[in-house]
Amino acid sequence: MSRKFIILIGDGMADWPIPSLGGRTPLEAANKPHMDFMASRGALGTVQVVPKEMYPGSDVSNLSIIGYDPREVYTGRSPLEAASMGVDLGQDDVAYRCNIVCLKNDGADTEMEDYSAGHITTPEAAELLEALQKQVDDRGVVVREGSTIPSLVDTEGKGSKNSVVRFYPGVSYRHLMVWPGGYDSLETTPPHDFHGKKITEYLPKGEGAEFLLELMEISREIFPDHFVNRKRIEAGKLPGNAIWLWGQGKPPRMRTFQEKYGLKGSVVAAVDLIRGIGVYAGLETVTVPGATGYIDTNFRGKAEHALRELDSKDFVLIHVEAPDEAGHNGSVPDKIRAIERIDEEMVGPILARARDKGDLTVLVMPDHPTPVAIRTHSQEPVPFVFYPVPPGLSSFPGKRYTEADAKETGQFLDAGTRLIDYLLSEKDA
Ligand SMILES: [Zn+2]
Repeated sequence: MSRKFIILIGDGMADWPIPSLGGRTPLEAANKPHMDFMASRGALGTVQVVPKEMYPGSDVSNLSIIGYDPREVYTGRSPLEAASMGVDLGQDDVAYRCNIVCLKNDGADTEMEDYSAGHITTPEAAELLEALQKQVDDRGVVVREGSTIPSLVDTEGKGSKNSVVRFYPGVSYRHLMVWPGGYDSLETTPPHDFHGKKITEYLPKGEGAEFLLELMEISREIFPDHFVNRKRIEAGKLPGNAIWLWGQGKPPRMRTFQEKYGLKGSVVAAVDLIRGIGVYAGLETVTVPGATGYIDTNFRGKAEHALRELDSKDFVLIHVEAPDEAGHNGSVPDKIRAIERIDEEMVGPILARARDKGDLTVLVMPDHPTPVAIRTHSQEPVPFVFYPVPPGLSSFPGKRYTEADAKETGQFLDAGTRLIDYLLSEKDA
């Protein structure tokens, strides 16, 4: 009987002491007997998941946890989202995240009013992008002398159908633009990072930026008067009056998980970034009905689907977004609730299988802290726990699964990529 492996990521579970919890963290305050069982009988410790010079985004962190050094393979978030949307990128294609946003004021006073255009609906966004694609296609492409960067000129509808870029509608405000042979080394800023501020200093900078600005400008010419926005304004909603391009990259070059470790695997996740990592790693991406990425997600269904995958696979990565979402929203009760539901509805059944068949090693951890105090990700090491104890790691009986207990063990891994080697150490045993 071959051994099986599960990694369960509770996105952003780790936190800092919170005054309203009497100085406890959500992991300390939550009732989570299954994670605590793992901590007391398994191998508890802390790990620096992401190299200190990189932002601990879930994409970078999850790559690291499944054994890919993000410094070598990470090219940007948009190519991962493209893979999740089923869009194949050529080696010279550059993918951009294309938000539909709401800007206010004009010229030098233009501000980012909302990065999601009031959570514009998917059909509304698709209409806007179609209009934008048509407008872009209808213009002629010129490349100025001494440059390789295209520029669009108005040919009054008599354009050449140039398709210099392609827009792909996604969900709500989150879309994709592909620029074949485009530039990926320029500097862009996520629109949720400068909410309510003037956009001027956050506009794309560097080689190729003027072309992106041109595309954004075209969207500002045609979106405000579009019937979709006239209706939204009538209904008292924010208009989607511009696009914002960011998160660019060429497709990552990754060996598949099977090539690296000789194991077949699946990923159970609701968010595009993690599913995209799965696609590039050659993992099967499993869709679970009712998996939303929010607190109302189908926790139990995710665990059940993951366990079912083990009938035909050796490895499953399960990602749960809910605690991260609670951290970003600054909600202590939601974060505790998310941790308790993960424990009861996911860790419980997974441990039952591990005890039952004795053929399963489980790793539970967050990918990074999302402290409710700062409502964004932080950089410090996070607590991990393996059950049963893999060779090379030690057990600390009596410990609970908390930030402080994990730190007290002194069992510290200096890179996230080391986790997979411990997890899989008994794969051939
Ligand atoms: Zn997050």
